[in-house]
Amino acid sequence: MHISTTPSDHPVADERLTEILANPGFGTHFTDHMFTVEWTPDGGWHDARVTPYGPLTLDPATAVLHYAQETFEGMKAYRHDDGSVWTFRPEANAARMARSSHRLALPVLPEEDFVAAVDALVTQDQRWVPDSQGEKSLYVRPFMFASETFLGVRPAQHVTFMVICSPAGAYFKGGVKPVTLWLTEEYTRAGRGGMGAAKTGGNYASSLVAQQEAIGQGCDQVVFLDAQEGRYVEELGGMNLYFVHADGRIVTPETGTILEGITRSSIIELAGKLGHPVEERKLSIDEWRDGVASGDIVEIFACGTAAVVTPVGSLRWDGGEAPAPASTDLTMELRQSLVDIQYGRAEDPFGWMHRV
Ligand code: PMP
Repeated sequence: MHISTTPSDHPVADERLTEILANPGFGTHFTDHMFTVEWTPDGGWHDARVTPYGPLTLDPATAVLHYAQETFEGMKAYRHDDGSVWTFRPEANAARMARSSHRLALPVLPEEDFVAAVDALVTQDQRWVPDSQGEKSLYVRPFMFASETFLGVRPAQHVTFMVICSPAGAYFKGGVKPVTLWLTEEYTRAGRGGMGAAKTGGNYASSLVAQQEAIGQGCDQVVFLDAQEGRYVEELGGMNLYFVHADGRIVTPETGTILEGITRSSIIELAGKLGHPVEERKLSIDEWRDGVASGDIVEIFACGTAAVVTPVGSLRWDGGEAPAPASTDLTMELRQSLVDIQYGRAEDPFGWMHRV
């Protein structure tokens, strides 16, 4: 893929950038450039370009605004102590976007083009990657959408893939804190044959009312159960779940209707290496409640790109509460191992890091 570059005439001034990177927050500041490539059935992927960051002009009849034919990804670039910049398993994000796009009847962007697009933009805007102090990073958001101007319901014949970047502060400012969870018994996230495994905006739109309910109940995140039986634990609004048993076995809900987290799959490998085999299987909400009560479940944690790995605190539902399990030892060990690899402070035995 040939990528043309038009540098911005008005990059953010150095002093302002220093201010932003000192306290980036999440998702509010954007870098100087963006990446765009277009797809049409005849021309394939074409016109790949890095251009100054700016608003899009869209016809009101642009298909994505009506039928939500869209997929996205979320990943991070990390600065190591020697100043070099690295992404974490970008080919895994590319592969997941390919699966999502297939489900949404969007064209697949080849893995090498996905990685080249991210590399081109992060290289162009590398001064936006925060230093290695704290757990700061540059959040990278690739996304693909139906950009054809057409109100008919069918797969779009014009698709746009873009990448934007936004500096991100540490998820936990005052040290890692357990997330408290609300079990929604009214809403589900994904049914069999649905889009649960795809990273597409509609899944997040459908989760918002349940997440709002969780916040209203004083909890941080919502837990979804399976849509068919309402018995099996699936995932949180934006993180996967893990359960550590007293004998060292770890269980994580099987894939199918959940988002296959890159962090989730990394933990399967990492935990295995630390001597804790991971079982991917169905786990019922009763097994959660009973396991915590009996002491058979000694740790529960959630994981995702944003928070890495975080202990799960209490679980509340309409009329009841299960307390937080007593320990967070393995949770914090896995968290540290992953963060050390991402920031280049430990050996990378899996070859996960990709130099930009
Ligand atoms: N589940 C959902 C619903 C998510 O949005 C995310 C965040 N992308 C995850 C799990 C964790 O995925 P990852 O480890 O790739 O960030």
